[in-house]
Amino acid sequence: MTESRHSAQRGADINFAPADVEELLKRGLVRLSIAAAGVDPVLDKRLKQLRAAMRSECPASGLAELLPDLERAVLAVDNDREHRMASITAHLRNLVEQLLAHEPPVETRKTLRNIRDQLAEPLHYAAAYHAVLEQLVPAQDETLQAESASAAGGGLFSRLFKRSGDQPASDSEHADTAQDVNHPGVITDEGTSYSQVAAHVEGILLDLLTQLEVAEAQQPQRDRLKVQIAEGLNWYELAAVLDQASQLILLAQQSRQGDFERYLQQLNERLALFQGNLEDAHEAYTGSVDAGVELEGAIRTQVEGLHDDVRDAADLDSLKATVENKLNHLLQDVEQARSVRQQREQEVSERLQVMVERIQVMEVEAQSFRTHLEEQRQRSLLDSLTGMANRGGLQKRMAEEFERWQRYGGQLLLAVLDVDHFKTINDNFGHLAGDKVLRLIAQQLSRRLRKTDFIGRFGGEEFVMLLPGTNPEQGEIVLEALRSGIEECPFHFKTERVTITVSIGFTDFQQGDDLDTVFERADKAMYAAKAAGRNRLLRA
Ligand code: GH3
Ligand code: MG
Ligand code: MG
Repeated sequence: MTESRHSAQRGADINFAPADVEELLKRGLVRLSIAAAGVDPVLDKRLKQLRAAMRSECPASGLAELLPDLERAVLAVDNDREHRMASITAHLRNLVEQLLAHEPPVETRKTLRNIRDQLAEPLHYAAAYHAVLEQLVPAQDETLQAESASAAGGGLFSRLFKRSGDQPASDSEHADTAQDVNHPGVITDEGTSYSQVAAHVEGILLDLLTQLEVAEAQQPQRDRLKVQIAEGLNWYELAAVLDQASQLILLAQQSRQGDFERYLQQLNERLALFQGNLEDAHEAYTGSVDAGVELEGAIRTQVEGLHDDVRDAADLDSLKATVENKLNHLLQDVEQARSVRQQREQEVSERLQVMVERIQVMEVEAQSFRTHLEEQRQRSLLDSLTGMANRGGLQKRMAEEFERWQRYGGQLLLAVLDVDHFKTINDNFGHLAGDKVLRLIAQQLSRRLRKTDFIGRFGGEEFVMLLPGTNPEQGEIVLEALRSGIEECPFHFKTERVTITVSIGFTDFQQGDDLDTVFERADKAMYAAKAAGRNRLLRA
């Protein structure tokens, strides 16, 4: 601004000769023609001619000849420009819409919508397109990346079946134990295909469906699903089957809740009936009391009449007749009162009988509901694979034993047991075989424990034991017997004999301990047993 004002002033101050002015104008035209180059081929040609004419010092008439062509070319370019801008805007808008249709991530979607707004009207300057493209290119990248991630199976299942980092099976020293225990579904290495975990997934689904209590109407669907799973599923079938299974589970849950609501409704109706019966019985009883009072009154009146008759009697015969008559009436009254009372008693007793029967029915129903609830509760504490206590059941029992120990003192041991190189068993023989081994180990352990001891599956291939009333020296003997028992137990895969071993860490509850500190000690001892070469027992 300041600069141009200066030069304008300077220009006004200096006097140029006409030849100089012409020279200046020519130079300006040449520069302008260079700046305008590259927009349109026809225009370029005209501008080139113009520049050549000016450089060749041709007379002004020569230039005038060029001008009409040049003017036409400029006008045509200007017309074209508007069309082109509108068409580029439309194409860009189209591209943005297409990207939006691919459901990009939220932030990218925002950027794309923003660009779409900017493109609502054709842009006027080429530089504006540059700004738009600068936003559009990364947004397109993000959209396509998100899309290819999900196409490559970046969805729920691949995340579910993918392990974040690889670790060597034998020497991982359990850095990942807790992770595996918490996510027993995470079983494959990076790159392992679905087919390798399919059997495992199918096993779990079959277990789940077998245990699911569904209404009669849903049983055929459940059975069909089970058959389908047993025949094996590919990736796409799995998704559909999971969908159906989740529907079944929801329905089962709804129907159980419905059952309970219906039961409460029935109970309400029964109680209302029961109350009605009680009121009737009460009325009947009050009625019979009234009847007794009435009878007593009648007898008293008769007896008083009798007194009067005796006093006023003129002769014995008429007295005899009167007394007989009165006695007859009395007897009739008593008889009638007796029959009324009997009838009422009959009614009351029938009502009572009905009530007693209803109460009995209600008791039976309530009992069956209690049993059902208890069964459900118990089942939720059991591990479906091994049938022993699951983590929930284990925690419940640990809390109970701990409370008992705190209250009464004595000896209490806690042991953590982990199967050695279990991953290798899965890898070599498949997950179904791995599951079977877990069941067998659980059987062996349960069989070898004493009555007062308790064992549960903490998760994965890890078990926890509680040994009440056992000092560490006795515990050592019991647990060592468990360890060697498993080692000697013959496991066969087809014809191959495989030795399976476990590492055990244990500790006793000491003054000031809580469940966490004890568990941690035993767990550390188990890790130490692993580090020391596995297949051994270690006291914390
Ligand atoms: P270590 O001797 O160090 O304990 O080796 P490991 O292979 O037993 O230990 P790691 O924790 O690396 O692997 C445990 C494996 O147990 C990983 C997982 O695939 C497997 N696993 C966990 N739960 C189950 C299950 O329910 N069934 C089957 N088949 N395998 C399971
Ligand atoms: Mg483990
Ligand atoms: Mg293990």
